[in-house]
Amino acid sequence: TAPVHIVGGGLAGSEAAWQLVTASVPVVLHEMRPVRMTEAHTTDRFAELVCSNSFRADDPLHNAVGLLHEEMRRLGSLILRAADANRLPAGGALAVDREGFASAVTDALASHPLVTVVREEITGLPPESWGSVIVATGPLTAPALAEAIRARTGEESLAFFDAIAPIVHRDSIDLDIAWMQSRYDKGGGADYINCPMERDEYEAFVAALLAAEKTSFKEWERTTPYFDGCLPIEVMAERGLETLRWGPMKPVGLRNPRTGRRPWAVVQLRQDNALGTLWNMVGFQTKLKHAEQVRVFRTIPGLQRAEFARLGGMHRNTFLNSPRVLDRLLRLKAAPWLRFAGQITGVEGYVESAAIGLLAGRFAAAEAKGEAPIPPPPETAMGALLAHITGGADAETFQPMNINFGLFPPLPDGPKGRERKRAYCERALAAADAWAGRPHVLPAPREAA
Ligand code: FAD
Repeated sequence: TAPVHIVGGGLAGSEAAWQLVTASVPVVLHEMRPVRMTEAHTTDRFAELVCSNSFRADDPLHNAVGLLHEEMRRLGSLILRAADANRLPAGGALAVDREGFASAVTDALASHPLVTVVREEITGLPPESWGSVIVATGPLTAPALAEAIRARTGEESLAFFDAIAPIVHRDSIDLDIAWMQSRYDKGGGADYINCPMERDEYEAFVAALLAAEKTSFKEWERTTPYFDGCLPIEVMAERGLETLRWGPMKPVGLRNPRTGRRPWAVVQLRQDNALGTLWNMVGFQTKLKHAEQVRVFRTIPGLQRAEFARLGGMHRNTFLNSPRVLDRLLRLKAAPWLRFAGQITGVEGYVESAAIGLLAGRFAAAEAKGEAPIPPPPETAMGALLAHITGGADAETFQPMNINFGLFPPLPDGPKGRERKRAYCERALAAADAWAGRPHVLPAPREAA
């Protein structure tokens, strides 16, 4: 069998390589470290964790990322195997000894007879003559390759920064306070959810934004220009009391049906996925600390009990507008021999990146054997994430996404809270086992230490 070329030996590239060699397909793994380093990596190991050492919650029956762990374990994930073997005590979370973890991944690949490792920077788009290629170069893709990808996909299709506004679960928004209406009733009239503020509420909100704790930009993040057009809301608030009211919180063209008048200010939310379960806070990209976002944004009328599918953030991050440019098997529509995996596809986090690497590896392995790859069903965590980035997300507002229950096809009304999460997880594991053609078992409950 001809080898599959993988560019990038991070979380996604390593997992993709493992899935391929497990299926007896040879791999050439091109990794630029240590010849060229990124701004965040410090070693030459594969799957180096550049920041936290946590893979987050490990409960497979009540937590979406814990469910993703379990699905990956069942598919023989190298990343999960190395994480489990290097686990550190961390309550209900899966935290790892980062050196032991990266060494385990590196040794497994470097010693595998079907893996050829080439330490080099790839500086242009791999040509079709390479055969099947997986690009998994991550949030800090080296500039020459990033430029080549941008030239191929178009200006608008590769971003160098994320500017993430918080995303709220629709069913946690209080529609006795908020209401649906588009500004000036445009486009059907009711596309947005509007949360109204009176003058005193608005002024208290601006004061809370100014006082809240922020995360700072890293020096190398600051030097890349991106502020135009997407200032963090707390920076807008610093520019004057009225700035937000003339910006993302402007109330023009809106009338609160409960008072019959225009509110002093509004927070608008716009539908973020085709399922209609997730809504993003328009213009609310922010560098506030996560706990502060929850505290301050729950003071917004209508969002007092908001549950956040993801919180806001702004980082240096190279990622594709995947809903627009990738097909559902992660291939670039404009150059289908190139498959993408990991954070560059617009997922966020170690586990999500590795999960997309796992799928890319499996899809490439199936093709190498002349089989038609079948994507996992959307009821599974892997399938929900894949469906979101390759079509379910709105391409116009696409920003990187963590796994969360809002990405799954909604269950019919029924139990709430913990019971509902369990129902999502049980449905997912049954679907994942059926997809993988293995007998279905539920995992033993994992107790938080
Ligand atoms: P990476 O793991 O970054 O792997 C990409 C690989 O490609 C690297 O080894 C790189 O050297 C190589 N490469 C790049 N360009 C080329 C090229 N042209 N030729 C050859 N090789 C190349 N996620 C979390 O879950 N928790 C965190 O705490 C966290 N903190 C983060 C902090 C920072 C500063 C950054 C940038 C990201 C952070 N992330 C975090 C996100 C995290 O990086 C990703 O989720 C994860 O590492 C992505 O996996 P990946 O395989 O897509 O990319």
